[in-house]
Amino acid sequence: METQRTENQEELDELRASIEDAPPNELAARAGQARPQEIVDIWEDLSRERQGEILSVLAPEKAAEILSNLPEDAQPQALDALSAEGVRKLLEALDPDDLADTLQALEEHRPERAETLKALLAPETRATAEALTRYEEDEAGGIMTPEFISVRATMTVSQVISFLRRAAPNAETVYYLYVLETDGRLIGVLSLRDLIVAPEYQRVREIMSPDVIHVTTDTDQEEVARLMADYDFSVLPVVDPGGDLVGIVTVDDVIDVIEDEATEDIHRLGAAPVDVDYARASPWKMFLKRVPWLGLLLVSMSLTFNVISHYESLIEQVTILAAFIPLLIGTGGNVGSQIATLVVRSLATRELEIKDFPRVLGKEVVTGLCLGSSLAVFMFFYVMIFQADLQIAIALAITMVLIAVCANLVGAMLPMLFRRLGIDPALTSSPGITTVMDVVGLLIYFQVVILVLGTVLEVVN
Ligand code: ATP
Ligand code: MG
Repeated sequence: METQRTENQEELDELRASIEDAPPNELAARAGQARPQEIVDIWEDLSRERQGEILSVLAPEKAAEILSNLPEDAQPQALDALSAEGVRKLLEALDPDDLADTLQALEEHRPERAETLKALLAPETRATAEALTRYEEDEAGGIMTPEFISVRATMTVSQVISFLRRAAPNAETVYYLYVLETDGRLIGVLSLRDLIVAPEYQRVREIMSPDVIHVTTDTDQEEVARLMADYDFSVLPVVDPGGDLVGIVTVDDVIDVIEDEATEDIHRLGAAPVDVDYARASPWKMFLKRVPWLGLLLVSMSLTFNVISHYESLIEQVTILAAFIPLLIGTGGNVGSQIATLVVRSLATRELEIKDFPRVLGKEVVTGLCLGSSLAVFMFFYVMIFQADLQIAIALAITMVLIAVCANLVGAMLPMLFRRLGIDPALTSSPGITTVMDVVGLLIYFQVVILVLGTVLEVVN
């Protein structure tokens, strides 16, 4: 997507100029020729007045598509420039799920405005949207749309086809038809392909798949995405606790979910704030969001001072020991972050589950030993070349093995432990692991040194 953007950057710049400079009588034509997504891409670079004008001159459907793709906090402002009638038309043209999102965005950023806008809506539109805003944003109920096509099991194929001709224009997708019992319960599904290859007189009951893969309104959106990926359906039905079909989740919404969840995980792994839109945030906001994590890490990391000062007399006797500290604890942090990234990702994609704990433990003891030994060989010769002290070289080699094994285990096990405790494994961030390993690494280092060099040291701690 990014490369696509850069390729088109010139065209977008042209479009922006042409829309920004358009005389009033040509704006509708110029904006009308552009694709909605292109307008979304140049949105931020347009003047405020132009933004409002565009939404009011375009056909409501097109304006609605633009609005629904704008960043959440740009939406309320975009609506400001419109007349009450303009806003009403635009909101009515939104798909119910998008309308619910827009209303939620408004409620968050401008509660008073949300109320006035809601009052403009037709009672049915308002009821549908409000029903959707009841659900959590990150659950199936929050990303579904109620515009599905439902049929009865007793209908014949030809009845369904003529029904489809009428129902299709308003449905989010016509590709899957859901079969409902008279009380609304979901009892089957058929695809458009199933329908058109069947003889006209056949009943829906005979061609439908009765075993419907579905989610409930409170299914987590990540789970919805995973099911969709596993079963390869582009739409999943959402039922309420009573088994009634209340909506469908389409793959386009799930792609957004996957992107959001991946962003969230990447932010967490870097101990960065998750609920922040970097490109749009002010320096002050970024500061406020970042400083708690950095503060927490600094406080935790300050333990290294206590450890080092505890072994002060040791360092005084063999000062060169201090020179190796960054090398050792840095490596510990790297080893731990590396494995944590792999494990967190595997947990997120469900390739790895809690039950794999013993297997991972075994695997990482072995891997850690191999890694540690290889790094130790380097350490040993490095010290021998630059320091030419066999005892220190041995101490450092041993330390390296122990730190690598330990960091590897912490990096692999901590995410699994978090998952077990119901905490997002991605919170075992690289900076977090580095902090832990700095402290643990120092303790290992000094203890090993005391053991190996014990006889030559005057004071053993
Ligand atoms: P195409 O593969 O070209 O898209 P298709 O008819 O094979 O056409 P699929 O999406 O592959 O459509 O669906 C395969 C079958 O799965 C269809 O017969 C459909 O009825 C069924 N199906 C669709 N959604 C569900 C669901 N949620 N649960 C169970 N079965 C489903
Ligand atoms: Mg198929």
